[in-house]
Amino acid sequence: MNHKSKIVVLGSGESGTGTALLAKAKGYNVFVSDKGEISSKYKKVLQDNTIEFEEKQHTTSKIDDADVVMKSPGIPDSVPLVKQLRKTAKVISEIEFASEFTDATCVAITGSNGKTTTAKLTHHILKQELKVGLGGNIGDSFALQVLNYNYPNYVLEVSSFQLDDCYAFNPKIAVITNITPDHLDRYDYKLENYVASKFRIVQNHTEADYLIYDADDDILIEYIKTHQIKSTLLPFSLTKTFENGAYIKDNNLTVTINNNTFTMPTKNIALSGNHNIKNAMAASTVASLLRIRKQTIRESLENFQGVEHRLENVLKINKVQYINDSKATNVNATYFALESMDAPTVWIVGGVDKGNDYSELFSFVNEKVKAIICLGKDNEKLKENFAGMVDVFVETEFMSEAVKIAYKVAEAGENVLLSPCCASFDLFENYEDRGRQFKNAVRNL
Ligand code: ADP
Repeated sequence: MNHKSKIVVLGSGESGTGTALLAKAKGYNVFVSDKGEISSKYKKVLQDNTIEFEEKQHTTSKIDDADVVMKSPGIPDSVPLVKQLRKTAKVISEIEFASEFTDATCVAITGSNGKTTTAKLTHHILKQELKVGLGGNIGDSFALQVLNYNYPNYVLEVSSFQLDDCYAFNPKIAVITNITPDHLDRYDYKLENYVASKFRIVQNHTEADYLIYDADDDILIEYIKTHQIKSTLLPFSLTKTFENGAYIKDNNLTVTINNNTFTMPTKNIALSGNHNIKNAMAASTVASLLRIRKQTIRESLENFQGVEHRLENVLKINKVQYINDSKATNVNATYFALESMDAPTVWIVGGVDKGNDYSELFSFVNEKVKAIICLGKDNEKLKENFAGMVDVFVETEFMSEAVKIAYKVAEAGENVLLSPCCASFDLFENYEDRGRQFKNAVRNL
């Protein structure tokens, strides 16, 4: 790209502001435009760096002469301005833009569930021995880190929205944790569009690059079988074994790459649940590829503290364990939460249903759930599906009340699990707010 090209940054959150700063440093003429209000934190950054911006509007005349447009991932393609700009400018994501300015080895992690956990776990292992940044949807934007630190390695959590506007971005190691229907409103309600978006992560791969993926996931297997993927494949599975890949052997997590084997007992992995064994498989495969010492990988998997709002143990009160899994906003995430419950469980569930099919959960609910507390404005579907399966089925719109009821119902040795299976927007600002309210309510018991 020529210097003094004009870049328009649409949306001024973390990725937009980071892009604006990097672009300015690289000599672009930068204009930031946000239809909403820009938060004071980012406004100050733009002002301090004399970057021109507007908020609460898009002024066409200041935008339509752009050579490049960085579209923040939250802005849908259906927005008329975006459709128009695609005719005259290159529309790209922050990941695409920033990757032009670094030769670092990138590990990019996508999937429907487990991105954040796997990215943080991978970073936790790699950082013991390498200089490595953690970015994408987590923490500081990739663009900002390329500008300020220029790490030789990055672990990036990459959503499908970011991948949609990637063209040249080529992570040496790509991970797809799994694919279940999600965000279909942004993909014309077609699962194949969503799957294709995820696979853009390997669109520039050759045999010298790696794709690590869940080989227990039918959607992934089918896509790989029917498309020409050039990457060297490294599958992981809880049930199959591979010549090259990650699998379970004699209760050990095992990773074999070119006859070199890493192994550790699954019971020593700090995170609980089968889904987290999979996340650990993905992370340790990345670490093995990057030649991290086996002992370092083992110790890192043993001492990783977990991520807030993901099967997070909050407190034990009267021998009842309270668990915050507020980030479980779809059936698949809650499936693994319920699967990992090792005692009768009081389940707090509900919110905005995204077209859930609850049948996958029936056997766990019958087997492990002793009471259901619905926490949502509209609980009809939950009632239809589950009311007949448990003795106690109650509804509330207040977290404090939900937790108080759970406290009354749960007995010593049992669990209280918040794993809502639904989005949070009916009663809460977001899943973090929901998780924090849960933790506060538990602490106030
Ligand atoms: P993402 O960043 O993809 O949303 P998170 O790591 O934040 O993923 O986890 C989201 C939810 O999914 C949490 O409830 C978590 O316990 C659950 N989860 C984590 N890893 C997996 C996995 N591999 N498969 C299914 N669910 C998972």
